Amino acid sequence: TKMDHFGFAHGFHNKYTVNEILGCGTFGCVHVATHKETGERFAVKVAVKRRMGNYLQHDFVKRIQHEVDMYNHLGKSLNVVHMYDVFEDDKHVYLVMDLCSGGELWGRIKRGQFNEQNAARIISEILRTIAQCHTRGVVVRDVKPENFLFQDESPSSPLKMIDFGIAEYCAPHQQLHDRAGTALYCAPELLRGNYSFKADVWSAGVIAYELIADRMPFEDDDGEMLVSSLRTTRRNLSNKDIFHAILYRPLDFERPPWPSISDSAKDLVQRLLTRNPDERPTALEALHHSWLESAAGHASGAG
Ligand code: ADP
Ligand code: MG
Repeated sequence: TKMDHFGFAHGFHNKYTVNEILGCGTFGCVHVATHKETGERFAVKVAVKRRMGNYLQHDFVKRIQHEVDMYNHLGKSLNVVHMYDVFEDDKHVYLVMDLCSGGELWGRIKRGQFNEQNAARIISEILRTIAQCHTRGVVVRDVKPENFLFQDESPSSPLKMIDFGIAEYCAPHQQLHDRAGTALYCAPELLRGNYSFKADVWSAGVIAYELIADRMPFEDDDGEMLVSSLRTTRRNLSNKDIFHAILYRPLDFERPPWPSISDSAKDLVQRLLTRNPDERPTALEALHHSWLESAAGHASGAG
């Protein structure tokens, strides 16, 4: 544990030029990085080394190693951002990965540009990504719109998943017990302390509800508040209120826009948000739901 380096390669700055900031997170910021020889653009997460005296903080080492490990493990999955290279110097660790220039899913939710067909396409991609992770024995535990980025700016851009900082390995019949994730997206069984892969399917259901209704299933009570304002002026709901709603409050499919939403869409959201994980579909099963399959057929039929 007493170390001040990981053993990653040096010379990041010889190979790449660092450009504009894309966003910031827990350990530093993510920038555009241009490969000096090819001109190809990547994203680089620049994590500032956290030290205690002469040594790196144990938590920091664990988190970076975990993240690098997860990217190596999942990197070949289609919808997960690929990590190409890791470097370090005295002050930083550099994770070079695919650049997603289309922005966060959250950004497009705010613009409210989701008709049913668009929503179905996005939900399919999210479920497919989750299914890929599950096939590789990983529970994501942090399925939320912020962690899905569009690869490019086109309306048909693929969606890629980032940030596996709290993802966890899990055997087929294993249960996990530690609470991890973001309150509004947490599955009820996770709150109860016994969960597995299906917890990610619930979180996908929260995103699905949010995409279609433009509000969150377990937060606002009056239906007036849009997601955009919700995000910025989180009302004084405590986690306790949110957890209570997740565990017990009946889902609202009465208020607009639900009356004008197809039964098939409602059926899928309801299935994803089934409180008993044994009755909830797996990500793979959900992908075969008629609402998603007919939207996919439509899209390919249109070219
Ligand atoms: P942390 O693990 O520190 O929370 P994230 O991986 O969540 O960091 O990245 C922080 C922000 O940087 C993200 O919210 C996103 O806006 C941006 N970002 C991260 N990875 C990429 C990428 N590959 N392409 C474009 N932007 C990215
Ligand atoms: Mg993050």
